[in-house]
Amino acid sequence: MKKHVVLYKKLSPPLMARLQQQAEVTLIESLDAAGLAQLHDALPRAHGLLGASLKLDAALLDLAPHLQAIASVSVGVDNYDIDYLTERRILLSNTPDVLTETTADTGFALILTTARRVVELANIVRAGEWTRNVGPAHFGTDVHGKTLGIIGMGRIGEALAQRGHFGFGMPIIYHSHSPKPAVEQRFDAQYRSLAALLQEADFVCLTLPLTAETERLIGAEQFAQMRPETIFINISRGKVVDEAAMVDALRAGQIRAAGLDVFEREPLGSDSPLLQTHNVVATPHIGSATHETREAMAACAVDNLLAALAGERPQNLVNTDAWQG
Ligand code: NAP
Repeated sequence: MKKHVVLYKKLSPPLMARLQQQAEVTLIESLDAAGLAQLHDALPRAHGLLGASLKLDAALLDLAPHLQAIASVSVGVDNYDIDYLTERRILLSNTPDVLTETTADTGFALILTTARRVVELANIVRAGEWTRNVGPAHFGTDVHGKTLGIIGMGRIGEALAQRGHFGFGMPIIYHSHSPKPAVEQRFDAQYRSLAALLQEADFVCLTLPLTAETERLIGAEQFAQMRPETIFINISRGKVVDEAAMVDALRAGQIRAAGLDVFEREPLGSDSPLLQTHNVVATPHIGSATHETREAMAACAVDNLLAALAGERPQNLVNTDAWQG
C-alpha cells in the first residue's frame, strides 16, 4: 500500500508526478485558516510531510501517530523541535547546498544595495525628483576594498566570502564556532572574536542558523560595538537579532544602514519601525527565491522524503540520532 504524504508546499508538475507515483498525496494549497484545518484532518493518516515555513510543534505532530519523515524545503531547521522528532524517531531532512550560491547572491545584493543606496535613489528617479546631478547628500559608500565581516562561516558564509574576496577585493574577517583553516587559506581570511569583528568590519553579515545559542546574539551591546560607518546585513534568521535594538541603533546613527532579508516576525508588518527609517533595505525573505533554486530545493526534499519512506537514510538527514539503520 502507498504511504500517505501531506504536502504543504506546491510542487512543479514533474515533481508532483514523481511523488504521486510513490505515494498518496494530500496537497494543502495555502497555510491559511482553511488550509490549517485541512492539515489537521490529514495528519492522522500521514507517513510523510513535505513543506516549509510552518512551525511544526509537538502539539501538531501528536496528531500524526504514523509519521515517519519530514522533508523541509529549507536549510534552516528552526521550525522543528528536533529533540521531540528524534524521540519519536521521525527523520527530519533539509535542503543544504542547492541554495548556498543563491542565498549568497542575495547577501551580496543587500551589501551593494545598502552601500550604494540603490532603492532610495531609484525611488527618486521613479518619483520624477531627479532634477539635477546628485551631490554628496546622495552619495553612497564603496564596497570594493572594504572589510567584510562574516558571522557563521558555513556554506553560505563561505560563498559570501568568495564573492567579497575574488569579486570585490575585500579583506575577509569571520567569526564562527571554530576557526576554518581551509577558508583562511582560500580567501586570506582571518578569525576574530565576535566583539573584534563587530568593531572592525565595514560590513557585518549574519550567515548563521537560529538556535538557542544564537537567538538575540546581536543586541544593543553588539550594535554599540559597531561603528557609524558599519553596514549590517542579515540573511540568516530574524530572531538572531534584537530588532528593537537594531531600530535604536539605526535611529541613533550607531550604524550606517541595514540590509535585511529576515525579521523577528514574518511577513514584516507595514507599521514596522524598521520601515520608518531611510537607511534600511528590507526584502521579503528571498534568500533562495529564484526559479532554479526553489525547484532544486523541492527536488532535493522529494528525494529525501521518498528515501526515508522507503526505509533508506535520506541524504540530508538532520537528526542523525533518529536513524536506526
Ligand atoms: P551551515 O553551513 O551550517 O553554516 C552555519 C555556520 O554558522 C556554521 O559554520 C557554524 O559554525 C556557524 N555557527 C552556528 N552557531 C554559531 C554560533 N553560536 N556562533 C558562531 N557561529 C555559529 O549553514 P548554511 O547552509 O550556511 O545556512 C546558514 C543559515 O542561513 C541557515 O541555518 C538558515 O537559517 C539561513 N538561511 C537563510 C536563507 C534566507 O532565505 N534568507 C536561505 C538559506 C539559509 P561552525 O562550523 O564553526 O560550527
